[in-house]
Amino acid sequence: MAPLIVANWKMNPATLKEAVTLFSAVKEAGAVICPPFVYLSALKANGAQDCFWENPPAGGGAYTGEVSPQMLKNLGVEYVLIGHSERRKYQGETNEVAEKKLKAALAAGLKPILCIDKISQLPKDIKEGFIVAYEPLFAIGTGKPCSFEMADEMIVAIKNKVKVTVLYGGSVNSQNAADYIKKAHCDGLLVGGASLKPAEFIDIVKNAC
Ligand code: PEP
Repeated sequence: MAPLIVANWKMNPATLKEAVTLFSAVKEAGAVICPPFVYLSALKANGAQDCFWENPPAGGGAYTGEVSPQMLKNLGVEYVLIGHSERRKYQGETNEVAEKKLKAALAAGLKPILCIDKISQLPKDIKEGFIVAYEPLFAIGTGKPCSFEMADEMIVAIKNKVKVTVLYGGSVNSQNAADYIKKAHCDGLLVGGASLKPAEFIDIVKNAC
């Protein structure tokens, strides 16, 4: 199966015009693109960066500022990042919150990508049906990628605990992408910073596949 490559645009770019330009440049690569919520509809993107932990039966409710999993599903979104380390850091998201979001996303028929940097962040009572992104904290946005050996060790350990697709994320670039797939036994990549540079991102997808 072809590796799953996921782009996390984080809180970028600043305008819809730039988002449309970036999206047009990379969409043929066949990756999952997770732009900020405000651009999802215009881009018809297939990924989102977060969702709320409740999935009310009617798809909505009194939760100011939140976006329900069902809303994403109704827009045509397929994948959603859950528990990204930046949300854990800046929004105080805990493992419990991430697990609730995971369940809500699954209930809405989305494919959640749970981001973890430790085995202890795996959900307690869900063992399959989702995707894990192993993202060591020291490697996220730092340009200091994790060694292939360490990534491999963690990915194998994750696969021993849960029956899921496992991505590697953390300073992935066009030079190291293929080696993560070959040497770290991951099933794909989660790409942050480099996903904002169209030529680099297209090379990552080409080299990884
Ligand atoms: C991320 O944000 O999930 C990520 C992996 O970022 P970067 O590729 O910039 O390290």
